[in-house]
Parts: sequence; structure tokens; C-alpha cells
Amino acid sequence: MSSFVWCHGPECHKSHTQDRIRGVKGSKVLRTKKIAQRTESRWYNANNFYNYFCSNSCYNDFANAHIQQIIAIAPRTEALETPIDVVKTQSTDWTGNPYMETKIIRVDNG
Ligand SMILES: [Zn+2]
Repeated sequence: MSSFVWCHGPECHKSHTQDRIRGVKGSKVLRTKKIAQRTESRWYNANNFYNYFCSNSCYNDFANAHIQQIIAIAPRTEALETPIDVVKTQSTDWTGNPYMETKIIRVDNG
């Protein structure tokens, strides 16, 4: 059996879409969207943000409203780096003209 959560977008209930309209004539509302939690599915991933937000727009609204708290979860105090090799090779485009192709290859030092 599937359960659901309400979209966490702080503006979700303000979007003018027909699937948000609830209520009877004279007392209609726009309601936050429900998001089914298909936990029984083999592809379900609890960490996928689409389980908590109905759209990228709602996700962005949430992030913008709570950015200070989000950053505080895992502050970035220094840059991260990925070891790479830069390899340049002579190549030709679809018309046969030569050009230098630059490939960035991740180096796994682990
Ligand atoms: Zn939403």
C-alpha cells in the first residue's frame, strides 16, 4: 500500500493548476500537492528529492526559503578537489578538419 507526503514547497498551494483545486463552489481552495511514496517499488529511493517535492520549482522555493539552515547542515569551509589528468589528442571534426581535443580524465588515487 502506498502512502504519501505533502509537497514541502512553501508556495506549492499558490500555483494556479487544476489539480490543486479542492472544495465545493463558494469555498474552493488551492491545496498543496500530495506525493505518493511508492516504497514497495524496487526503484524507490528515500533520498530522492522528488519524494518530497512535486517539482523543481517547489524544491527551489524550499531551498531559497531555508538556505541558511541547509548550508548549516554541511558547511563548505574549503574547496574540494578531484585528481585528474588532462590529455590532448589530435582529432578531426565531421568535415575532416583537424583540431586538438582535450579530455579530462579522473584519476583514482584510492
Ligand atoms: Zn509542490
